[in-house]
Amino acid sequence: MTPEEALRRRWGYGSFRPLQKEAVEAALSGRDALVVLPTGGGKSLCYQLPAAMGRGLVLVVSPLIALMDDQVAAAREAGLAADALHSNLEADGRGEAYRRLAAGTTELLYVSPERLLVGDLLEDVAARLILIAVDEAHCVSHWGHEFRPEYRRLAEVLERFPKAARMALTATATPVVQDDIRAQLALREPLRLVGHPDRANLIYRAFPRRDQSGQVLDVVRRHPGEGGIVYAQTRKDVDRLAAGLRKAGVSCAAYHAGLPAEQRRRAQDDFVNERLDVVAATIAFGMGIDRSNVRYVVHANTPRSVEHYQQESGRAGRDGLPAECVLLFSASDLVLHRWLAQKDGALAPERRRALERQLREIGRYAAAPVCRHRLLVEHFGAAYAAGGEGCAACDVCLGETKSLSDDEALLAAKKVLSAAWRTEGRFGAGYVVDLLVGRADERMRRNDHDALKVFGILKDAGQATARSWIDQLIVQGFLETAESGDYPLLRITQAGKELCGGQGTVRLGVPAVPRDRARAKTKSRSAAGRGPSGAPADEELFERLRRLRRLIAQKQGVPPYVVFHDSALLEMAALKPGTLDALGGVKGVGERKLARYGAAFLKAIAGGSPEAAAASPAAPS
Ligand code: ADP
Repeated sequence: MTPEEALRRRWGYGSFRPLQKEAVEAALSGRDALVVLPTGGGKSLCYQLPAAMGRGLVLVVSPLIALMDDQVAAAREAGLAADALHSNLEADGRGEAYRRLAAGTTELLYVSPERLLVGDLLEDVAARLILIAVDEAHCVSHWGHEFRPEYRRLAEVLERFPKAARMALTATATPVVQDDIRAQLALREPLRLVGHPDRANLIYRAFPRRDQSGQVLDVVRRHPGEGGIVYAQTRKDVDRLAAGLRKAGVSCAAYHAGLPAEQRRRAQDDFVNERLDVVAATIAFGMGIDRSNVRYVVHANTPRSVEHYQQESGRAGRDGLPAECVLLFSASDLVLHRWLAQKDGALAPERRRALERQLREIGRYAAAPVCRHRLLVEHFGAAYAAGGEGCAACDVCLGETKSLSDDEALLAAKKVLSAAWRTEGRFGAGYVVDLLVGRADERMRRNDHDALKVFGILKDAGQATARSWIDQLIVQGFLETAESGDYPLLRITQAGKELCGGQGTVRLGVPAVPRDRARAKTKSRSAAGRGPSGAPADEELFERLRRLRRLIAQKQGVPPYVVFHDSALLEMAALKPGTLDALGGVKGVGERKLARYGAAFLKAIAGGSPEAAAASPAAPS
């Protein structure tokens, strides 16, 4: 069997995604490889397919214990002899897994790093091992965003299997992190397979935050009945947002470390099994989430770094269908991140510099009126080539955020900067905004600031725009906030003074006014109604197939996406195949799934109710 045949028969896919074939061939020829593919790029296949070739055992090291059982279930659906070994496993499951391993029938074995480091697995697997895949390989690097000490010890173990090829996989790695992975995992002249980091199916939007709950609700309302994640910075924000969404009739649960474990587990379980549409969460949520049809991710606060943003927003649209990522930005979030990072003591100078760089970069991403796809792609060291209209998939290129001309931007910046200059760094951003829009209170009159030339100079632009320009000037280094007793004070920087003197350039954008927001274009609904072939899907049938999938998944005790992805259901709802043969031609329907579920889905496509179709017996696993 060739790799192409295995791909078609086991997974039902007609062709490889970019770099998959190269990765598979490297593994089969015993060569080490470093694979950097964005989320949804198809990393699992790079090590699962070699396991399906019947040449020996593939070991997968993954830190995501919560995900392992689902990954094993998905691999088994493709007909692989797969198992997992980790600390959460019940004795029964463990015994079975060991038995199969000793009998030499296991083709794919997932292990946690802790489990592997114990060292007793070596004898069982050594002889048959052809490949060790290290997933989430960025965890080995200090420079990455999720350093895990136990990953640093993996090289010791790898060295005991000199004959097995090594494959390190990650979704996001800057060139520095890539080098670190190669060194730390002792990859031997690895083939570097670095995919383009762009996620073309995601629409990115970043807006200044004005009304957190209202803006979040706007996004959620664009996606009725679809899966979404709302991230917030603090537990309090999470609780408040979740309560607000529930009050608005949205099926939503909260998730953060302050909630009882049972409640968290239920939220996660309900979300993955599509009994729940929205989870409002701190970033504690997500590592274990593999639901492929998450249609939107909203950040109600600014994340800690571009890497975090890429990772968290990347949970949207893993199935390759359109999805939306919205970030609500305020410079005050960056102040909170800085405070949190240092609350247990001052940082070493190197860490402090890294932190400042990360905050500057995410601030720039969120506030600069520049194509967001371009900024993300360039951050990860790749070039971004867009057509004349830009990416057509971010707020800037869609015209929802307007970029001012150079002259207009300079003029507006000078107005804001001189207000900060005149107030001598003794007031917060709120005060400076009031000054700019000409709203005087007692204190301002006492300070005689209502007599300044800048008083009311941005009256026409309005409060929200003035506020956003301050944030934009902060992230471009023309203004800075300085810690003081109660709240951060706003002051002009040296670069800001130079800009006022005509040196340097500045970019400013004007965010869409709230009324435009409601009209914000989303390709999500309309484009989601098409299968991979581009044919429009019968929406009513799609919903019935989703229901059937849920019923089958429930019966089998696996998440719905393990049965079929949304894209396969959309294609069925578009092409309406009438025979097993035709159904087998749908992308994502492998031989085994066809045999197990084909009859049920044909019944539903022919008009049968999901309940009746689900009752038809599935072939035994
Ligand atoms: P990653 O781990 O890189 O985020 P996954 O391995 O979860 O990505 O794959 C993402 C999705 O793409 C899965 O639904 C997978 O079945 C699908 N996929 C992988 N390879 C192919 C392919 N060659 N053709 C079509 N779909 C694929």
